[in-house]
Amino acid sequence: MVQNDTAMRIYFEHSGEEKQVPLSNLVATLVDFVDHFCVKALIGPAFSGIIQTGSGADKVARLLNACGCAGRPQAFFTELLSQLGKADGTQKIVINDVELPHLLLMAILEVVLPGNRFFTIKSTEQLERATNIKIPDADRMDMQRVLDTYPVRLSMHTIRQMRVSGDVAYQYLPFIEELDSAGHTNTWIGQFHQGLLEQMYQNRVIFLLNMTCPVYCRFCFRKHKESRNEANPAAADVKRAVAHVADSPNIKEIVITGGDPFMNRKNMACAIDGLMAVDHVQTLRLATRSIAYYPHLFLSDNGELLNYLKRKHLELQAHGKRMEVATHFIHPDEISPQCLEIISDLARNGIAVYVQTPLLNKCNDEGPELVRLFSLLRGAGAELHYIYIPCSPIHGNNVYWSPISKGIDVGRYLRAHLSDRVIPRICTATPIGKMDWNSSGWAVEPVEGNDGFIWIRSPYTPDYFKQFAPLAKGLQNIRVNGEGTIDIQYMARIGDESLFLGSRPKRPGNGPRTTADTDAVLKEMPAGETIAPSIVATGSSTLSRVHETRVEIAAECGETDLEIIRGDDRITDVVIVAPTDAVDCLIQIRRIVRALEVAPHVNAVRLRSLKFNYAPGSYTPAVIDALAALNRLTMVNPLRLEIETQFLVAAEFNPEHTRLCRQLNNRGITVYANTPLLANINDSPEAIHQLAHECRRAGIEFHHLYVAGLPVQDRWNRKNPVVLYDVVDIATRVRREGSGREIPRYIIRTILGEVDFGLSSTVVGQDETLAVKLSPYDHAYFTAMDPDFEWPPGVEIDGDGNPVVPVTGLSKTTDFALS
Ligand code: SF4
Repeated sequence: MVQNDTAMRIYFEHSGEEKQVPLSNLVATLVDFVDHFCVKALIGPAFSGIIQTGSGADKVARLLNACGCAGRPQAFFTELLSQLGKADGTQKIVINDVELPHLLLMAILEVVLPGNRFFTIKSTEQLERATNIKIPDADRMDMQRVLDTYPVRLSMHTIRQMRVSGDVAYQYLPFIEELDSAGHTNTWIGQFHQGLLEQMYQNRVIFLLNMTCPVYCRFCFRKHKESRNEANPAAADVKRAVAHVADSPNIKEIVITGGDPFMNRKNMACAIDGLMAVDHVQTLRLATRSIAYYPHLFLSDNGELLNYLKRKHLELQAHGKRMEVATHFIHPDEISPQCLEIISDLARNGIAVYVQTPLLNKCNDEGPELVRLFSLLRGAGAELHYIYIPCSPIHGNNVYWSPISKGIDVGRYLRAHLSDRVIPRICTATPIGKMDWNSSGWAVEPVEGNDGFIWIRSPYTPDYFKQFAPLAKGLQNIRVNGEGTIDIQYMARIGDESLFLGSRPKRPGNGPRTTADTDAVLKEMPAGETIAPSIVATGSSTLSRVHETRVEIAAECGETDLEIIRGDDRITDVVIVAPTDAVDCLIQIRRIVRALEVAPHVNAVRLRSLKFNYAPGSYTPAVIDALAALNRLTMVNPLRLEIETQFLVAAEFNPEHTRLCRQLNNRGITVYANTPLLANINDSPEAIHQLAHECRRAGIEFHHLYVAGLPVQDRWNRKNPVVLYDVVDIATRVRREGSGREIPRYIIRTILGEVDFGLSSTVVGQDETLAVKLSPYDHAYFTAMDPDFEWPPGVEIDGDGNPVVPVTGLSKTTDFALS
């Protein structure tokens, strides 16, 4: 403590603990925070409006003034510490009507409650002390039973978060309803399980390298004590599992998980080094939630673990393989400077970080929380992969279950208000494997006589399992449907009976397919690229608003266009379209990126480039270097650069694409592909399965498979429409036989925006006279962007106020909702 410094006292009301911290430390932390982290995306518009811009000292002065403590930091901290002493996550921290943002409170708590360790909680007294809560006397015995039944572990990082966020506490704090016996003990059938190796899918396996986690989520599907107390495998077990993979040429991907596998470095090293030598292995996916709840694991010892991963990533790349890190986040209050630092560091070095999110009742099941969470993660460089609906129905976690309809509604909300690049796939992990809602699977009907269960159509067939581990004969909870895939009983509430779609009839007219050459369709594509039509008037021919969050802008755009983007906080994504190709317009792109750097709400610039596919040699080292210089993956104010390209069929890929993609990835630049579904070119399950596989092999994210609506589809498919029935067959095949990381979003583009096939849209009409209902959008959505907006000609409005827009190039052959 500096001489004459004031010692500030904090008394934790429930735990009875007392601490003293120097005022100078608190002031320095506050100044540092407002200096570096005060952007709207992190602290919210209200707080940002109070502190405004300028030096840290100026901002602190404005904050103290607004809090009624002008020039009196001691008074400010006296009040703040008094409130933090009572805090248990249930109340906001507010001084003189100024609500202090979560991240600022976390920064202060790091001074007041320092430390990075994690520990196991075994008694109610210990729980009260660690978390500053008071357990009512009537609940004390039950709580002790919970602690004895389902282990509790917390890190200092989560303890700080829980004091000021009910949504974080909800995930980790034990509660007496955990004693409720509803739910399963285990959530999967266990098709193949040998030592540390589990296999649910033909092409990938799971390695369970470590049974414990530094923090235990209360909704965890491995929450039972028996799972936690299982002995960890030894290096010899890992070697046996690697040998099994080496003997199984179908296995292309390994998910390395646990518990947290990073807590067992010896096993991790043994697995990575062993799998590196197996030729047919393509991808290692390392799963950890520590990025969110125990970031110290990655940042301690000067980021030693991060450096290890970067080294191994390059070694794997030299062996033609890739490394990905899988993590999960649930609520924006889990975002910390530390987690953003870890994600951006990995992404900058070419290691993809993808995020999965279980939907938790009363935590993240409305939509706005996920928009904020996913936007922040995306800026740092993460990909958003899955939303699981509902979370696993396991003993003691039924407070977290929400009905299927909530997940579907959230999907629609995200489609309206989140960048298309960060909308995860909405899926359910059934006991025989995952399905994606209303494309590779759907709710068929309730299970008769078994309340609380529904039949789900899955993409899997009995033959699929025969190849690696036959399903146990006589399972009561599955049936083979008329299409030949398996329906499985699943424990969930549907929430909306209209989601029961019944069984799909057989495909009518399953005649032989004709095939056309891609050259024929490439001739139909215009020589140059133009921006897409705008869904609302922008007053500019070089700026098109294609979504609430996204604009397309011509490379030769004017200053007024850039001013419009800078002035609209809702725009997060700018797609730059050049007359020939993005790589030909780097001067204009640099001008646009520089102009957008002062708009913190824009966190991604996307360059449309067909030359990535058709002329990869255009990406010279100088071009790659120039692009890398524009890519800013940072904790605060990121501006991410991405390349948007197009591939039509698998045959278009060659090794040059892989080489180029790696070079870009290693500079933190993502490449993603959009594909129009074209009759006789690529509208078969096999064609899209192969295309998805090649994208993944090259390191390209398969982003959208356009079912209809692109200009080339309007021309090509009008005479020879795509059969809607095939879309479900395609989704079924890609889900069943590809990697979960290969699955595109199935999108219909219309004059009023994009929607997900089956999920946020409904196709109505007959044969080829079809229209599509756009569930995410209504009149208010468009007038919020353009007050003079009027429905375009030809659009009808349904009873819910959603537009119904004509769509061409599709043919409906059955009455079934998705075909
Ligand atoms: S991180 Fe995953 S495995 Fe660990 S407790 Fe949480 S949900 Fe379970």
